[in-house]
Amino acid sequence: MGGRKRMPEVLLKGGRLIDGTGGPVRPDTSVLLGGDRIVAVGADADAAAGRPEGDVEVVDVTGLTVMPGLIDAHCHVTLGEPASNDELFHHRDPAFTALLAAFNVGKVLRAGVTSFVDVDGLFDVGIALRNAIDAGMVEGPTMKSGSYALMTSVGGTAGHMIPDRGTAGYAEVVRSKDEMVQVTRRHIKNGADQIKIHATGNIPSRKGEAQVWTLEELRIVCDTAHDLGVPVSAHCRGSACTRDAALAGVDVIYHASFMDEEALEAILEHGSALCPVFTFLANLAEHGAKAGATSTAQEVFLGEMEQTGAMVKRAFDLGVPIFCGSESGFSITPYGHWHHREMEVFVRNLGMEPLDAIMCGTKNGAIAMGQVGEVGTIEPGLRADVLVLDGDPVADIGVLGDKSRFRHLYLRGAPVDLDRPWPERRPVSGEHVVNWSAVPLTWDLVHP
Ligand SMILES: [Zn+2]
Repeated sequence: MGGRKRMPEVLLKGGRLIDGTGGPVRPDTSVLLGGDRIVAVGADADAAAGRPEGDVEVVDVTGLTVMPGLIDAHCHVTLGEPASNDELFHHRDPAFTALLAAFNVGKVLRAGVTSFVDVDGLFDVGIALRNAIDAGMVEGPTMKSGSYALMTSVGGTAGHMIPDRGTAGYAEVVRSKDEMVQVTRRHIKNGADQIKIHATGNIPSRKGEAQVWTLEELRIVCDTAHDLGVPVSAHCRGSACTRDAALAGVDVIYHASFMDEEALEAILEHGSALCPVFTFLANLAEHGAKAGATSTAQEVFLGEMEQTGAMVKRAFDLGVPIFCGSESGFSITPYGHWHHREMEVFVRNLGMEPLDAIMCGTKNGAIAMGQVGEVGTIEPGLRADVLVLDGDPVADIGVLGDKSRFRHLYLRGAPVDLDRPWPERRPVSGEHVVNWSAVPLTWDLVHP
């Protein structure tokens, strides 16, 4: 790093420390940052500040909460907040997608997120953005990125928009076991940190999602990826699929909807982690109407959260690593607004203790990142990703979503400028689907 100016040490003095381990809150506990690392915590940190040779900037954080930066384990930074699948699959081009993702990742950071997993996305822009952030070209959270989501030709949640072959939107269709192997290897060659499988999908003429991968097919992808040291994640809406994903060796199971005892047993036996990603459902069910959402599935979503939530809580109590993922990237989950929301759902809907929910959104996130011992807690030697806010998330977990309370944010030891408002932007021509009308313009409508 020759030529780069050395950052002075920073002492965050006298704050209320939540260290991310799930351990108790520690009042009046200082944290010393140096370079991109946490150097010392507590009395050691205060002692270091008193050294005669010390070049330490003291930041008084008395009365404030000091905690690890948030880790969002399920993001889609390249989708650009589409309001529909039509928009997502038919109104995106690679160059604009890349520029838009580089703009949007700044919003993710200013929401207190210092690391995130971009699980799948458009045109491998996530991989390029990760590289650009690592290279110091774009200011953004540390990223891990998937490539396209692997789908059989039945597809995922976009019905007829999934083609019989090739890529569309965030999907890449694999037509045979050979292609499952080839495409998995290509994603890894192209720089994917994880392989994502869309293990359930909806057949347009039916309700709900069906399992569209066999256990054998899931195993083929897991074995191919694992042989190259790359983890696998899977979107599973259904209990049998969740069980099969665990049996096949999937490392992270998203949603795990309606998980039953058999599926939970398979998860416990095979060591999968769970990332339920309730945020999208919670936003749609509880607040969707405020944004003009027309879905009538409110009851269904609340039912799913209640049923699946109870099993996720059981899994947590049995020691399964639970991650917080926000599904940010859709119009229901715009960037920079809902990254804390999963923790809120865990506390309010699942009855989890706030410090446990925070652990899911910080320490456990390090597992999702493949960076255990590097990030996720406030401990000496770890990356200096630190959020300081005016508020007590133990009393009200919702304060983690209120950016007006954020006082300081350190990203790899460097302060993020929270005073500069992130610019508003205007829509770009061709970006959104334009409907001709909301209802058919019939003769009767004109002649009531
Ligand atoms: Zn997703």
